[in-house]
Amino acid sequence: MKGIAVLIFTAVSAFAQPPYELLLKGGQVLDARNHINGVMDVAVADGKIAAVARSISSDQAKRVIDATGLYVTPGLLDMHAHVFAGTMGPEYTGTLSVRPDGFTFRSGVTTVVDAGSAGWRNFAELKKQTIDTARTRVLAFLNIVGNGMGGRETVEQDLADMDPERTAAEAARYPRLIVGIKIAHYMGPDWMPVDRAVDAGRRANLPVMVDFADFRKERPFQQLVLEHLRPGDIYTHLYLGAVPMLDADGKVLPYLFEARKRGVIFDVGHGAGSFLWRQAVPTVRQGFVPDSISTDLHVHSMNAGMKDLLNVMSKFLALGMSLEDVVARATWHPAREIRREELGHLSVGAPADIAVLRLISGNFGFLDARGTRLNGSQKLAAELTIHDGRVVWDLNGLAAGDWQSAPPRSEH
Ligand SMILES: [Zn+2]
Repeated sequence: MKGIAVLIFTAVSAFAQPPYELLLKGGQVLDARNHINGVMDVAVADGKIAAVARSISSDQAKRVIDATGLYVTPGLLDMHAHVFAGTMGPEYTGTLSVRPDGFTFRSGVTTVVDAGSAGWRNFAELKKQTIDTARTRVLAFLNIVGNGMGGRETVEQDLADMDPERTAAEAARYPRLIVGIKIAHYMGPDWMPVDRAVDAGRRANLPVMVDFADFRKERPFQQLVLEHLRPGDIYTHLYLGAVPMLDADGKVLPYLFEARKRGVIFDVGHGAGSFLWRQAVPTVRQGFVPDSISTDLHVHSMNAGMKDLLNVMSKFLALGMSLEDVVARATWHPAREIRREELGHLSVGAPADIAVLRLISGNFGFLDARGTRLNGSQKLAAELTIHDGRVVWDLNGLAAGDWQSAPPRSEH
């Protein structure tokens, strides 16, 4: 008797409860990993992608969202940001960093990677104040400098504090959070900081991200990408004025293609001073496009030419890249580069991190680091962002019911 009662109860509740919590209907799905660029329905259950199909019936979901005319993409992954804000330490260990939640979801971003604001001495602090408290998924590159980016002219030049062993040991302590090693802002003539970062990367089996800072004749950039970096290592700030990109006739220098062939990754890392139209326009037009698109979000870039990840992505639309290519470079490509292949796509079973984007037509202007403008006719906007299956940003109430459908207050 007892067994039958349980059976009936299960059958009834299965009938009463639709299997999916959320259903996005009729959107154009762009998923580079799964080679999808077409109108599909996407269902979410238990914080995971539950189904992606041409048509999923509306009665299968508790909440149905009409995504007709919109683009449904994996939650965006910004792999260069500075989010060590909170305790007001110097520079990127505090005052130049931002709290991620104020910038991410409203731009379709569900994961940010802090690009080396902390080193092995202060990573625990970054974890406690930001990673453990933010709603955004926060990962990190660990700086080769033990004190991280807590002083461009002091701490970050301290060769004695660049310890590959301790850096690799700290990375091994947090394998779910630390995705690589960073070296940045070094002004001296020697290769030692880059080589120590690569040494730490080798010990920890992680990629290295380089901000090459002062370009000096003693350590040519060509040697960085052709000799010092390993396949899978990342150069960020691709469109910095100092990067040798073009010959006297305006042709892309062949060594860049050679470095790419070796497996070196070129990331945008826009920032406040690292994106020039003079570099981006001719190189993209000649087919040398970035592997990943990232912001270098911090206090000085957020209100300048960078603004947010969607604005940086829109710049590449203005340069003639397809939306499909641009979205891949802010989702699946960076996920692969940081070796977090559970992110950046909409496969069944993946975390339900989803961006619903609108492509707006109009007359737009895009600023670079010099304050010069390039005109464009399209711009991306985030209508809806879902993180771990929950709606975390809803610009126009797409996921909400009409106010008149809410019960009167007295009924609560
Ligand atoms: Zn940075």
